[in-house]
Amino acid sequence: MELKEQYSIPRIPAILFMLAAILTLCTFVIYRYIHQDYILTFVFGIALLPLCITLILEIRRKSNLLQKQLTLLIICGAIIFSCYEIGYKGLIYISPTVFIFFFLFNLKSSLILSTLYACISLVSALQVESVELVLRFSVATFDCIIFAAIFAHIVNKQRQALVHLANTDELTGALNRKQLKTKLELSVYEYQQQQIPASLLLIDIDFFKMVNDNFGHIMGDQLLNKFSQHIQKKIRKDDLLFRFGGEEFLILLPNTQFESAAIVAEDLRRSIEEQHFLDQHPQVTCSIGVADLRQADTLDTWLKTCDNLLYTAKNAGRNCVVARA
Ligand code: GH3
Ligand code: MG
Ligand code: MG
Repeated sequence: MELKEQYSIPRIPAILFMLAAILTLCTFVIYRYIHQDYILTFVFGIALLPLCITLILEIRRKSNLLQKQLTLLIICGAIIFSCYEIGYKGLIYISPTVFIFFFLFNLKSSLILSTLYACISLVSALQVESVELVLRFSVATFDCIIFAAIFAHIVNKQRQALVHLANTDELTGALNRKQLKTKLELSVYEYQQQQIPASLLLIDIDFFKMVNDNFGHIMGDQLLNKFSQHIQKKIRKDDLLFRFGGEEFLILLPNTQFESAAIVAEDLRRSIEEQHFLDQHPQVTCSIGVADLRQADTLDTWLKTCDNLLYTAKNAGRNCVVARA
């Protein structure tokens, strides 16, 4: 299962949600028809349509968030009308529907929309119900909104933590290889379609094995962590740092031409040379390969070029930058 930060309900629960809603609405429509309440039969019949369409699209994996949001708003419109027409018999449907807002909108929009929806429904019900009864429903409805908001807040926090865990390397905090493929493929696509430039920096710590051999693996881990933090502080907000392998890191510089990328790489190399990472091992250096994205490049050839340039930098004596000619 892919983890997304976007507000979305997984497909099977979404289908079950919609089936339950369709069943409820169908029962309501039939009941209203039997009672010769043709206006409400018509209104809820209309509200059923987008819901059925969304269900079919969801089953075919073609539905989108906006369409689900619109469907919810249409159904809420029908429920508001029923509150106006039949009072508490409509009000009882507010509580189950306010929960759905929190699945389809962000927390702030959900709070605003569900409160607005509840207020309009409750005021509409005053047309046929006593103030006392409407007040009773108000308490229950606003409790539901508060509980749903708390629940959504907890779920969002947990989702963010899961997304972070799934996308980052635990030791260094850099993005992991799974993210690397996705982001680099997007850069290659954007370059081929719209000529948006991008460059890669492949960085390898020089003689890192010596750190492990001389000071132990734990110290080696500490160096990797500090090294990654240092790069993270140096790069721009839009640049992406990945852990490429053991002591190798890759930086994707979006919207960056070759000349700027080479300057960034040299600045980074110098700052690492000057940085004091570990007391026991004062001088850490690195070698960097720099490759901009070119027309004939695929993800593999781009990475391979970078790797070859890094290899050249190592052979040239380390602690240097080699950029694509
Ligand atoms: P060069 O200058 O040629 O890059 O030499 P090097 O010693 O940096 O490179 P080499 O490939 O010989 O050694 C890399 C070492 O990195 C070997 C491996 O044990 C170590 N390593 C890989 N991943 C980790 C890690 O997560 N933690 C620690 N502490 N060491 C790691
Ligand atoms: Mg290496
Ligand atoms: Mg190395």
